[in-house]
Amino acid sequence: MPSTTEQSAVTVLGLGPMGRALAGAFLDAGLPTTVWNRTPGRDRDLVARGASGAVSPEEAVAASGLTVVCVVNYDAVDAIVRREAVTAALKGRTMVNLTADVPARARESADWAAGHGIGYLDGAIMTPTVTIGTPGAVFLHSGPEELYRRHRAVLDVLGGTHTHLGTEIGRAAAYDIALLDVFWTAMAGYAHALAVARAEGVTARELAPFAKGIGAILPPIFEQGAEEVDAGTFSGEGNPITSAVSSMAHIVHVSESHGIDAGVMRAAEGLARRAVGRGHGADGFLRITELLNPRR
Ligand code: NDP
Repeated sequence: MPSTTEQSAVTVLGLGPMGRALAGAFLDAGLPTTVWNRTPGRDRDLVARGASGAVSPEEAVAASGLTVVCVVNYDAVDAIVRREAVTAALKGRTMVNLTADVPARARESADWAAGHGIGYLDGAIMTPTVTIGTPGAVFLHSGPEELYRRHRAVLDVLGGTHTHLGTEIGRAAAYDIALLDVFWTAMAGYAHALAVARAEGVTARELAPFAKGIGAILPPIFEQGAEEVDAGTFSGEGNPITSAVSSMAHIVHVSESHGIDAGVMRAAEGLARRAVGRGHGADGFLRITELLNPRR
């Protein structure tokens, strides 16, 4: 079992941009911080700032009661922690996995951890590295409540807001996937818009202020949409799907007239047309949520 000193200390496995930011925040808060990374040398700056650089992940884990893992995906996590010596070192300690992956992998990891006497919390980081240690950071967590409470003070050092989403271990990853869905489809839309704008002689700089305006329209739509989707009613007042279909068809038309792929918009337009075809033309665009995943 870890000693009291070990319980106030923290280990970070994985020193990519995010792992380095997490370890840096722990160091800034004065916590005894041990770090390890597969490729040696990435700990140089952190060691200069006071971190202990471990030569192996088992040595790193043994130094603290709490180990935070943040690597590229859960295959990488498994490659590190499922080596016999590391698993043995984790026994009786807590691992917080802040690596991004899918909910099923979080559940599988929790089963593995439980089978080896390891406390396990799963989490997701929703903001970039520069936010870590600042009020702008956003962390989502799921897993045993008692474990979360026990380590909350150390996690708080990472700054921003921490939300415990419940004991179901896959929940943080589920939120992460849904939120990244919003992010990447929006980014795909923005990249496409810039390509179409350029074809029409409009620079990205010229478009940017107005693109920001479009972004600002979205938060109230998200709020209202949440009520509608949960209730299963889709008011098209002011902007029915029939109108949305027409607008999307224009985007497809202009894109393709310039030889620009319009696959993403074609997919959205196709869904909207199906909703119209099923008699929902007077509803709002979020009616397509029901087409994608009909309520049982
Ligand atoms: P990466 O996602 O590129 O992860 C790099 C880290 O993964 C390095 O420590 C690398 O080690 C390690 N790694 C990769 N493959 C293996 C392996 N097979 N075995 C052991 N270690 C491996 O960079 P980030 O640090 O930015 O991201 C870490 C996590 O944080 C990701 O899940 C990411 O989605 C998430 N995240 C990142 C954000 C960001 O802004 N960067 C924002 C929000 C979440 P090595 O140096 O040896 O290659």
